[in-house]
Amino acid sequence: MRKPALSELVRTSVLGLKPYSSARDEYSASRDAMIFLDANENPFGEGLNRYPDPQQRSLKAKISEWRGIPEDQILLGNGSDEVLDLIFRVFCEPGADRVITLPPTYGMYKVLAGVNAVENLEIPLDEAFQPRVPEILEQSGPDTKLLFLCSPNNPTGNRMNTRSVEALLEGFPGLVVVDEAYVDFAGAESLIRKLDQYPNLVVTQTFSKAMGLAGVRLGMVMAHPEIIAYLNRIKPPYNVNELTQRQALEAFDDLEKVQNQISVLLRERAEMEKALVKIPCVAEVFPSSANFLLARMDDASKRYGELLRMGIVVRNRSNQHGCESTLRFTVGTPEENKKLLQALRGLCKPAES
Ligand code: PMP
Repeated sequence: MRKPALSELVRTSVLGLKPYSSARDEYSASRDAMIFLDANENPFGEGLNRYPDPQQRSLKAKISEWRGIPEDQILLGNGSDEVLDLIFRVFCEPGADRVITLPPTYGMYKVLAGVNAVENLEIPLDEAFQPRVPEILEQSGPDTKLLFLCSPNNPTGNRMNTRSVEALLEGFPGLVVVDEAYVDFAGAESLIRKLDQYPNLVVTQTFSKAMGLAGVRLGMVMAHPEIIAYLNRIKPPYNVNELTQRQALEAFDDLEKVQNQISVLLRERAEMEKALVKIPCVAEVFPSSANFLLARMDDASKRYGELLRMGIVVRNRSNQHGCESTLRFTVGTPEENKKLLQALRGLCKPAES
């Protein structure tokens, strides 16, 4: 299949768009030396009275150093949910283009397809929760603009095979969006190392998981500079607020804390997996490269309700393809995990003889 140039994948309305130029775009580099009477802000205040840097330069410089990727290959947004939506809006013509998703997977791709009036072609993962590469390539064409791979996958927890991902990057005519929300728990290299090799690769990551900042809402896209430039054309000027930028910058002062938390969570995940498989109402625990475990239960809906009555909220994933009767357990603090296991043991005692 012919590989189109990146510009051929972009919606014509976006190609022709003259982006909104915000007041703060123009002179933010020399902020301290200037009098700003350009953006109709209230002049009194310590910083929050001003609009934030629309290009988040300080934060991007840190992220660039941290992830080892140039700043012009990074775009930030209000959580990865926002950046995923921006990707749809740059590349998918409503009512005409299609995307491919691989259930069971993160539900937001389907919702965003619906919101953007873009057909969502679902090609389920195989029994090992891996992509069916030949089927995906067979079903793809000039109108399948995006293919979503989630690795490690939510809710199954497994990583996608590198060979399959590479075959898809080679053969898929549109963009391959790899959602790496859980990559820091995977103990494997991020695909961002392959961005130079594959111009149609788009990697999304988030500060909501390993970085422990779900509340600040910060997501990122890393891709070819041309893709980032198209996304910048349509992004709302101040989509990452000042408090978020400050808080995220602060996180870089103590990356060791984050690393320690990841180590604890990985140890807890291993302990929890070992303990869960011994509980009689747990039929199977799927191996996980993320900060959660998917377990097949004897009766997931019943166990979900029982846990809820004990004040423990988990996620019932039973209605997802290939996930019949499953619950997804986020790895919590050691105390929380102990309580979950105690509760399950109490609920699932073997029948007395
Ligand atoms: N991708 C995946 C795979 C997720 O599981 C989630 C959140 N559950 C997100 C993206 C959304 O992340 P954010 O908080 O950055 O919007």
